[in-house]
Amino acid sequence: MAKIVVLGAGISGHVAASHLRRKLSKEHEVVVVSPNSNYQWIPSNIWVGIGRMKSKQILFPLEPLYKKKKIGFKQAKAMTFHPEGDTKENKPYVLVEYVAGENKGQQEKVTYDYLINGTGPKLNFEATEGLIPGTNKAYSVCTYTHAEHAWDNLKALIQEMKQGKKAKILIGTGHAKSTCQGAAFEYILNVEQELRKHKVRDMAEITWISNEYQLGDFGMDGMLMSYGSLSMKSHEMIEMIFEDRGINWILGAGVHKIENGIAHYENLEGEFKTETYDFAMLIPSFSGHGFKAFDKNDQDITEKLFKGFMIVDADYTPRPYEEWSVQDWPETYQNPSYKNIFAPGIAFAPPHSISKPRKSKNGTDITPAPPRTGMPSGITAKIVADNIVDSIKNGKESLNHKGSMGNMGAACIASAGYGLLSGSGVSITTYPIVPDYNKYPKTQGRQLGKTFGEIGLAGHWLKLALHYAFIYKAKMRPFWWLIPE
Ligand SMILES: Cc1cc2nc3c(=O)[nH]c(=O)nc-3n(C[C@H](O)[C@H](O)[C@H](O)COP(=O)(O)OP(=O)(O)OC[C@H]3O[C@@H](n4cnc5c(N)ncnc54)[C@H](O)[C@@H]3O)c2cc1C
Repeated sequence: MAKIVVLGAGISGHVAASHLRRKLSKEHEVVVVSPNSNYQWIPSNIWVGIGRMKSKQILFPLEPLYKKKKIGFKQAKAMTFHPEGDTKENKPYVLVEYVAGENKGQQEKVTYDYLINGTGPKLNFEATEGLIPGTNKAYSVCTYTHAEHAWDNLKALIQEMKQGKKAKILIGTGHAKSTCQGAAFEYILNVEQELRKHKVRDMAEITWISNEYQLGDFGMDGMLMSYGSLSMKSHEMIEMIFEDRGINWILGAGVHKIENGIAHYENLEGEFKTETYDFAMLIPSFSGHGFKAFDKNDQDITEKLFKGFMIVDADYTPRPYEEWSVQDWPETYQNPSYKNIFAPGIAFAPPHSISKPRKSKNGTDITPAPPRTGMPSGITAKIVADNIVDSIKNGKESLNHKGSMGNMGAACIASAGYGLLSGSGVSITTYPIVPDYNKYPKTQGRQLGKTFGEIGLAGHWLKLALHYAFIYKAKMRPFWWLIPE
């Protein structure tokens, strides 16, 4: 009998737990440890942030589902990792602290045979001075509570605009190394359309601010895409969209300080500038959660498990950009020191950025961190779950399921405005996510035909369809596993 502990109930943790439970007989235990009582479909936060969806439409409580499916659930947060146990506990364990209920504040050693770290990113607002959601007129849409708050304040600003106030709106990245440009891009397009729907578009100046070197970089070094019968660079496509909608842009910007309505940033030229605003949504940098790890004798072994995020089977050897290879990217998400620990989704440490690293003239790194969107988070979680299932069934380590972001595609449907008839979406499919310059030297490392972009109402319908399909899947309704990750 094996016990698998899954940390986190986001896309990766929940996908892993669901597949493990479906494929393992009930003599094996699957336990999820996560601080939030709800599952949230994060991509739809964008629509909460423009008031077109309520939080309750994008979330559901985990405990009743897990109870029904015989998955253990602890509403707790992981604190420290003890992969060898300690002097009193022989088995490896994670020390967790309950965050709700009658056990709130209590700690427990949760032992395991296999551990899946699906804790995603820490939203590291503190890395940018003054960037705390809800203060300094700056907001976030990274969680449903943040998104609700953003909408409350945008709504209030729209009312003021209706009374004649001219407003400046700033959306993008709030740190020189933030990722998730895609989410900010979706939000700026949705906000722009929302202002038009409220008939106040002419009262607003909307500006995109980003650490990208070019528009459409998205932390993936941009893309050459097929667009209908043409091929087009992603920056051309995004420029066209922004020009069409009258959105200004500031690029190569490392935002480092926020004051009430003022974003301070440094650009690649090394200039220190400011941009004022009445409403901002700036994505913070993502970091690991700062977990510590200890061996049997309580000695600190954090560097064996973490490098910010969790260390897995990537090649972390520091190399200049010219020597980076697609083979540096992990395939099994297994920790090399403790082979019963895995980290799918955002929780694993990437070997390097995907975009070409750039520094300002003052030496400040201004480069998007690699994005890890929902699709690869789900796929990597399933790979990990399948390998654990095989290892348990075969009685020995089995790592036959593999998939690297260098041979995996990602489909990203960015909503560009809500509305069943007036909505729009930008659908971008990339293959592979990490460019393979050896295989596809003439098309910027990507396979044309499998890397394409489209704009239109169909994208909005698709995004909406995905919202319902993935919530159906997450609720583990009949035949849920037939819906791909
Ligand atoms: C606004 C927004 C829009 C997005 N839109 C899209 C999109 O359209 N398409 C797309 O593909 N991707 C999108 N993404 C990215 C996508 O949401 C992420 O790739 C995905 O959520 C990552 O999954 P994950 O499981 O690794 O992390 P998460 O989903 O962040 O899950 C992490 C989990 O770990 C839990 N946790 C945190 N700390 C602890 C702890 N100490 N102990 C235990 N558990 C812990 C959290 O509560 C959470 O349950 C978007 C992201 C954002 C922010």
